[in-house]
Amino acid sequence: MVTGGAGFIGSNLVRAFAEEPGVGEVVVVDDLSTGSLDNLLDVPARTFIGSVCDPDLLDGAMAGAASVVHLGALGSVPRSIDDPLGSHHANATGTLTVLEAVRRHGVPHFVLASSSSVYGANPILPRREQLRPLPVSPYAVSKLATEAYALAYAACYGLAVLPFRFFNVYGPRQAADHAYAAVVPKFVTAALRGRPLQVHGDGHQTRDFTYVRSVTEVIVDAVRRRVSAADVVNLAFGVRVSLRELIAELEEVLGRRLEVSHGPPRAGDVRDSQADSGRLRELFPSARQYPLRTGLAETVAWLSGQVLVQR
Ligand code: NAD
Repeated sequence: MVTGGAGFIGSNLVRAFAEEPGVGEVVVVDDLSTGSLDNLLDVPARTFIGSVCDPDLLDGAMAGAASVVHLGALGSVPRSIDDPLGSHHANATGTLTVLEAVRRHGVPHFVLASSSSVYGANPILPRREQLRPLPVSPYAVSKLATEAYALAYAACYGLAVLPFRFFNVYGPRQAADHAYAAVVPKFVTAALRGRPLQVHGDGHQTRDFTYVRSVTEVIVDAVRRRVSAADVVNLAFGVRVSLRELIAELEEVLGRRLEVSHGPPRAGDVRDSQADSGRLRELFPSARQYPLRTGLAETVAWLSGQVLVQR
């Protein structure tokens, strides 16, 4: 079962499961708040529309599940600054509600998406999992709660859990046209429409951009081998790319110069981010990293189709 399966990472994951021999039925729970059924149009999945905060819906969806991959959440730091309670409800209360359903149904394996934003104001790079989390946004606090709940369920109920910290995941099916869109789809869409790329701050802030296929491959492997861990695991490869470098790569992919405009830095944003991927490599020796150029080219190809359709 995949919560948030109609979203960006979720729908890529459901596709990856569909191609995996030996995987039975894939069940999706999603309230479509940021996801879309269009993302699942051509994939075999049984879909339950509703919230992860609804125990009855979860009971219907979860019966017989071999693993639960919990991705359903309200992403975005700025969204959480506008509506902290909304983010807390979907992310923290939602995770606790899913974990209770997992306990009721005796599901043996639980994979969770937390976020690199939990490292927040801690200045140490690369981000090792043992660093003290210093979240600086309501979103980051809600994600820290989700991983703490998962680890508490492992300690109290013996549940096999695997709490990942995703970094900046990008790729096809990431929504571009909403106020809280992530930087890669925002930049690519602006570039395709011939509009300036809006950078918050000087553009020297860095991120560990992770192509979505790396993430889905690791999660499929985790489910197949029932991998669990006693603590959180970074799911990124230790690549530190500034927004200026990201724009330069995009210019290479598109074969032209792009116009950039700078605004003030955003509240709640972390300055630098780079994973230590040692633990990931131990647990998933075959994890594959895709070059930024390759991932951006595939993202541009997909978003080009979307932008053309919207014209
Ligand atoms: P997304 O917004 O595309 O997907 C989230 C999905 O969850 C959407 O389909 C949405 O409709 C659904 N959802 C939201 N609230 C829900 C609720 N209450 N009940 C049921 N479904 C709900 O975002 P994504 O980028 O695919 O993120 C997936 C997960 O990964 C999230 O937990 C997010 O916090 C985490 N994450 C993502 C990134 C990234 O860079 N994309 C980084 C760190 C963590």
